[in-house]
Amino acid sequence: MVGIVIVSHSKLLALGVQQLAVQMVQGNVPLAVAAGIEDAENPLGTDPMQVYEAIASVFSDDGVLVLMDLGSALMSAEMAIEFLPEAQRKQVYLCEAPLVEGAIAAVVAAAAGKNIQQVIAEARDALVAKATQLGIVSGQLSVVSGEFESHSEYPTQEIRLTVSNRLGLHARPAALFVATASRFQSQIKVKNLTRNTEFVRGDSINQVAILGVRQGHELAISATGADADEALAALQALFATNFGEDDTALPPVTTQHQVTPATPGELSGIAASPGVAIAPVVHYQSPIIPVPQYHVDNPETEWRRLQTAIHTAQQEIQALFSHASIQIGDAEAAIFDAHLLFLEDPVLLEAVHERILDHHLNAEAAWQAVVDEVANSYRTLEDSYLQERVEDVVDVGQRVLRLLVGNVPSELHLAEPAILVATDLTPSDTAALDPTKVLGICTTHGSATSHSAIIARTLGIPAVLGVDTDVLLLEDGTLMALDGESGKAWVEPEPDILDLLEAKREAWQTATQEAQAAAHQPAITRDGKQVRVFANIGSISDVQVAVANGAEGVGLLRTEFLYLGRTNAPTEEEQYTVYQAIAQVLDGRPLIIRTLDVGGDKPLPYIVKVPEANPFLGWRGIRFCLDHPDLFKTQLRAILRASAGHNIKVMLPMIATVTEVRAAKAILNEAQAELKQANIAFDKAIAVGIMIEVPAAVAIADQLAGEVDFFSIGTNDLSQYVMAGDRTNPRVASLADALHPAVLRMVQQTVQAAHAAGIWVGLCGELAADTLATPILLGLGLDELSVNPQTIPVIKQAIAQLSVDEAVAIAASALQQDSATQVRNLVQQLTHK
Ligand code: PEP
Ligand code: MG
Repeated sequence: MVGIVIVSHSKLLALGVQQLAVQMVQGNVPLAVAAGIEDAENPLGTDPMQVYEAIASVFSDDGVLVLMDLGSALMSAEMAIEFLPEAQRKQVYLCEAPLVEGAIAAVVAAAAGKNIQQVIAEARDALVAKATQLGIVSGQLSVVSGEFESHSEYPTQEIRLTVSNRLGLHARPAALFVATASRFQSQIKVKNLTRNTEFVRGDSINQVAILGVRQGHELAISATGADADEALAALQALFATNFGEDDTALPPVTTQHQVTPATPGELSGIAASPGVAIAPVVHYQSPIIPVPQYHVDNPETEWRRLQTAIHTAQQEIQALFSHASIQIGDAEAAIFDAHLLFLEDPVLLEAVHERILDHHLNAEAAWQAVVDEVANSYRTLEDSYLQERVEDVVDVGQRVLRLLVGNVPSELHLAEPAILVATDLTPSDTAALDPTKVLGICTTHGSATSHSAIIARTLGIPAVLGVDTDVLLLEDGTLMALDGESGKAWVEPEPDILDLLEAKREAWQTATQEAQAAAHQPAITRDGKQVRVFANIGSISDVQVAVANGAEGVGLLRTEFLYLGRTNAPTEEEQYTVYQAIAQVLDGRPLIIRTLDVGGDKPLPYIVKVPEANPFLGWRGIRFCLDHPDLFKTQLRAILRASAGHNIKVMLPMIATVTEVRAAKAILNEAQAELKQANIAFDKAIAVGIMIEVPAAVAIADQLAGEVDFFSIGTNDLSQYVMAGDRTNPRVASLADALHPAVLRMVQQTVQAAHAAGIWVGLCGELAADTLATPILLGLGLDELSVNPQTIPVIKQAIAQLSVDEAVAIAASALQQDSATQVRNLVQQLTHK
């Protein structure tokens, strides 16, 4: 493989470039640095000997490429070559490419196995991508209109694939396609052969979606560039794994439109979410945002203003995403991923950029014009499913517009329970609804497969969509009855209809209450063993849903939500207020507060400023907190203060060593001593536990058990660390399966160590919410399972159907299987699921 050497006057600069480059290829390329000089007073400079050593360290017959910053770096590099044996000199190339961009392009090409000439060509072309993004061609700002610059030095490779997902490349698979295509340097284009479309850019969510790809369609995907092979292989893997979708999870077809002739006062629509609601109507209209249009003198400032709004919108969507994934599950919440990609769509951004920069149009008008164009192109498609994606485009477009215009209230506040009447509800509007106030939804637009409908179903709000627009003329307060199962609504219903609906509502409510009531019973096996079922939560509103669903406590409060999406850390007072409020709702039930677990995939931009080559193995969780003792102590003080009079426990994330536990406990002791000194109340016997999510912690679980009061196993992280399979990398993500016997054996080892030391052990990874895993976890002896609030009733039910002997036998056999698939088959066979 071609080796790369970076020569710079500054060691910091060179190491930074090295870090960036290594991140691109996960350290897969021989890369050495020769930078700075051994002079503490004046460390800037270059040393030919250092350059020589760097070249020698990465030398092979494949050749070495040397990239330099400027001035004496070139001279040092030239001299270094003279130190090399004659035979080697010809294989070392000094390259004029820009240092940062050139290094990155070169390592990617080298990692892809290119020869030295191809690596040089890539490094020289490294500025093209940047220029394209900035719209700069030959020193001029130019408009880039959905076309790539040509990379004619690389042959274009093409593959053909057929889509087997039931709904084709709808929002989520399209998002996955675009995210994967964007990871590669190569230019990816895609065309729908079945529909005979043109090629479009594979890194544009809108262009890919507009191809109208449905089940059975054949696509041609082309890649041009140094890593074309890898890009096509990654895309092919997505198709092979059906984009990770389980088609059985799609909304049932029975909720489709039911056509029934309407009688007076009766409205017929689409049965979008089952259940009966009887309540006064309240009209809801997403605030109409004025779109001012004017000439701007300074278009660069205007462009930056738009970028700030887009950045804030991304943060809002991230927050909504985390909230929604707890409320309605990861799969449904993933629709917000498509919203995020929309905001990164290069074609859309280029079009807005052109309007602002070339036409001196203000950001609001430029943004809205382009969003309208995109929405219209979806509308003109024949495909009804894709037409429905207009709601997502409009939703995310409005979000940015609202931020640009400022001061537009976006949230709905209802004083009394009501049925919401609207033209349409955006997914963001729907996800923010409070099911205790919004008893039903009736809209004139929408369909059973719209995201709003999916969210309404998961929130349990009855909904009838697509009714006649006359409903919009009703006055607020008019009584309405709505049956989300038949897709009908009645305005001021006649007494006989009201009686019938009330009876149906009662039956529905009784059925729901029975399920709820069972959810409020303890989870006890057929032979009398109780397993505590707790909730994983991430906000104050989650705790209410958790308690309503029968949570016996909170097994994991992810405190990250308090720190993310802001520009400074929350104060002790802010945190105390939130922890206390959550504990109050729990009314004596245990609340396990996990200390800050940022880093990894959850960066904290106002503190962690240096990008990491491998964030999952980096500065995250407890490692980060121990390096920020003030920030950590502030959180611990807030937790301790909230513990006075409440059943609160502290949990430390990402523990790998006994030293970390002791260091964290020392800071906790300091916080306790400070509070005592200041006469501030706290629970002096507060329990301290740790997450077991790093393989090292499993290996030393016996030692760790002597240090703490409880364990909670985090199988989300543990699986990816045990299997060395990054769950965000589609090529290996399926390895990180918590049902793999390798992971299950780790769970067994942890439980045994905990019980031998006399402490209890829970499990709060997603595995706990999988009913197929319930017999195994019960059989392995877990004392507590902590799951998302919606899943509590089904997990309790699954526990109640088992006996301990049966579970122990299933677990023993699961540990002996060869694969996660075999484990699944085994449980299915033995429990007849
Ligand atoms: C886990 O890793 O299993 C876990 C529960 O923590 P998180 O998902 O927040 O990393
Ligand atoms: Mg974790």
